[in-house]
Amino acid sequence: MDVDCRGTAALMLLLVLFNYGASTAHGHDAHWGYEADNGPDTWPELCKTGTRQSPININPSFVDYANIPKMHFVNYNRSHAVTLKNNGHSVTATGFEKWPERPYIYGGGLDGVYELVQFHFHWSALDHQGSEHTLGSLSYPLEAHFVHLKKGMTLNESLYSDDGLAVVGVFFAQGNDGRPLRPLERSLQDSYAFGGGAEIHNFLPFEMLPENHQVFYRYNGSLTTPGCNEAVVWTLLAEPVTVTEVQLNRLRKHLSTSGRLLTQNYRPVQPLNGRRVLFRPHNFDLMFASGGAIYQMSKALVGFLSLLLLTASLM
Ligand SMILES: [Zn+2]
Repeated sequence: MDVDCRGTAALMLLLVLFNYGASTAHGHDAHWGYEADNGPDTWPELCKTGTRQSPININPSFVDYANIPKMHFVNYNRSHAVTLKNNGHSVTATGFEKWPERPYIYGGGLDGVYELVQFHFHWSALDHQGSEHTLGSLSYPLEAHFVHLKKGMTLNESLYSDDGLAVVGVFFAQGNDGRPLRPLERSLQDSYAFGGGAEIHNFLPFEMLPENHQVFYRYNGSLTTPGCNEAVVWTLLAEPVTVTEVQLNRLRKHLSTSGRLLTQNYRPVQPLNGRRVLFRPHNFDLMFASGGAIYQMSKALVGFLSLLLLTASLM
């Protein structure tokens, strides 16, 4: 790939990430999609040739329990304005860089601070599929991606760095509790058309996170849209939040760049190619805090070994 191509790919991604897709309806960005003639099978370059692509299926055989520190979600409990927009590929929420206290994450094994740039959704017309990542080959009907940019990097730099972006994935299970998406529910009706959107004045990011956001899967992967840059440290929160049938149906009414219903906007799972997935279990903090219990256990073990030796010496 020559430098010019890299520059073009970076520009395309910048447009996608920052949701300028609507203003480039006739540009390159409008050409990829999720339909037969422009779907994932036709996506070029790294999407075809990459070796750490996303999404993936989380298969228990490739998961290792890991001693990962707690992840900090800073300013996720602040509320401010976001712009909701249909970019022809998804519904995105942007504007976090204008917040007086911009949400960011650190810890959780991440190398540095990552600032929230935008979030968006992946879904399907059917309830049994829609999420990009799958767990034991099972899908959730909806997955949200909170895209964070490594502090100190430009977006262009981040796209060509191993860990330039940190994306937090949140799964949605269908249920009666519509609270996580309630703040967006009404505005979703204003973004059905390609390029359509609305302002949300008091958006609180924490409302879209599960109560327990310290149990997660971690792996190194890529953007799930062209150019599929292998620059993403993925954090998938294991506990889902809920989405109602009404909310799902509103997402499903969005139109793609071609003006047809965006009936699905998830990329199929990609090969692991030898990658391992790390899992931070729910009882890790407890294990970390319970040195006393481990000491008690070692004492019992020493006692048991002494008894064995004693028994042996008596025989
Ligand atoms: Zn995504």
